[in-house]
Parts: sequence; structure tokens; C-alpha cells
Amino acid sequence: MNLQDTDPRILWRPDDQEADDQGADVRASGFARLDDAPFPDFTPGHIWLVGAGPGAAGLLTLMGYHALTRADVIVYDALVGPDILRWAPPGTPLEYAGKRGGKRSATQADITLRLLDLARAGRRVLRLKGGDPFVFGRGGEECEALAKAGVPFRIVPGISAGVGGLAYAGIPTTHRVTNHSVTFLTGHDASGGLPASVDWPGLARSSPVIVMYMAVRNLAEIAAKLLDAGRDPTDPVAVVARATLESQTVIETRLGAAGSLAEAGDLPTPAIVVIGPVVNLRDRLHWFKDGLEAGPLG
Ligand code: SAH
Repeated sequence: MNLQDTDPRILWRPDDQEADDQGADVRASGFARLDDAPFPDFTPGHIWLVGAGPGAAGLLTLMGYHALTRADVIVYDALVGPDILRWAPPGTPLEYAGKRGGKRSATQADITLRLLDLARAGRRVLRLKGGDPFVFGRGGEECEALAKAGVPFRIVPGISAGVGGLAYAGIPTTHRVTNHSVTFLTGHDASGGLPASVDWPGLARSSPVIVMYMAVRNLAEIAAKLLDAGRDPTDPVAVVARATLESQTVIETRLGAAGSLAEAGDLPTPAIVVIGPVVNLRDRLHWFKDGLEAGPLG
């Protein structure tokens, strides 16, 4: 017997006119149905920290989209895709909280104070960050301050560049035959230098795949550390820049050559640098750009 004849969860059956009509109804209502979907209330005086994803507007979550349509003010970072901000209703104030045009960038303390002021004035405050707010995005620091101040907040996770951005380059972060673990690493700490707490020999030995954020500036130094620790110079490396956007660029090299490539100084940014055998899968899995062209949403 055909499962479709017995399973009540399957609403659409080719010869069942009533169910077919229901399906047609869902399709006709389309995306607009989200406006009435039972999302959580965005309460005045609350702050939502929302991950915007790696750049392409289509990679914003539905919860993020909901927040965008309800917010009274949006405080956003440099890496938020510009097309996402265009989805904010006309009239919603957009406040930039990053570095621009040589001006002094807002410090973390400035940003936190601004968020608290807005929330205390009774606004629905949307703090929009690139990728996922809790992955190298200082979301934890911001929330600690909000918690301390007693201001209620919600976290809306986003697609992190080190996972979703790599997917757009045809590079899985894990793959059963190559790696059972992956390490996410930042290329610098608060001082701009190599992060002091990283055990480079341990990392070189134990992590088959290393995904690095903010690593282009220190890449020569990082590659040298890994090589000194015995990592194979033929290990494949990919630099995935402006991932998910129409301008996405991927440069492939080997660990032994990564240092001189970085020192030549023309690596595009923002970029994720990934080291390890998963990079080789790109040969077969590079679906984006070489195969399918980017649309405006991704
Ligand atoms: N919270 C973000 C990361 C912020 S740190 C996330 O989860 O993705 C900023 C770094 O993220 C950049 O230096 C770069 O390494 C990476 N990044 C962000 N967007 C990117 C993109 N579209 N393409 C490649 N790297 C990106």
C-alpha cells in the first residue's frame, strides 16, 4: 500500500481535491502569512540580539525577519548585509555601530550604553550583527551588560560565516571521511595580536579542520606557528572572502604557501580562512558562482 494513502500527515494527494485545495491555499497566501504567524512578541523596552547571517539577505532567519518588521530602532554592525537593512520598514531608524570612514569606532561600552538608553526609553531595540551574535561577535559581552542592567533580551541565532559562508564555497565544515571535529578560531585577540591562549602545537596536532575568523592580517604568523608545530605544508587552505555575496571570491592554496600569499597583501576581506582536507571537496562541490549565479538574496 502506498504510504500517502494512510499517513494523515501528508495532506496533498494527487486525487484528493479537498487536500489539493488546502495546498493551493497555502501556496496562494505565500510569504505574507508570516505577518500573522505566532512569533514571540517584541515587547517595548526589550532588546533582541539578532544574527543577520553572513551577508546574503536570503540567509536571514524568519525570526530575524520578524524582528526587523517590529523593531522601533535598529543598531547594526559593519558586516550586516545592506540588502537586509532595506527590509526594515520605511521610517525605522537605522543606527550604525561600527567603524566608518576613519572616524573613531564606537567602543563596546558606547554601544552597550546606547542599547540600554534606547531600551529604557521604551523602544523595541534590534541589535543586528553579522553571522551569529555568539560566534566571535561579542554578543556574550553585550548580553552580560544587559543582564547586569536588568534589561530583558532575546537572542536570535544566525548563520555563522564559518559554517554557512563555507557552504557557499562548497566546503563542508565536517565530512565523515575526513574529520570528526572542527576548531573555530579567531585570528587575533583584543590587542590585535595572535590570541595568546591558543595552544598552537595542540591545535596543529589534534584539529584536522581549522576555521579561522578575522585571520587574514595575522595569517603569515598563524601559518608559521602551525608549520613549526609540525602541520603538513601541503595541507589545503581556502580563503573565502565576501562569502554568500555576488562578489564572493575563493582563493585556494597550501599551508606552506599561505604566509607569502598573505604577506603579498592582496587577500580580499572579510574572509574566512579554512585549513584541512575538507577544502579538497570544493573540487566537486563548488555549486555557487561556478555553477549557479548569485541572486540578490543569495
Ligand atoms: N559573528 C560573525 C563573525 C564576526 S567576526 C559570524 O558568526 O559570522 C568578523 C569576521 O567574520 C570577519 O573578519 C570574517 O572572518 C568573518 N566574516 C563575516 N562575514 C563574512 C563573509 N561574508 N565572508 C567571509 N567572512 C566573513
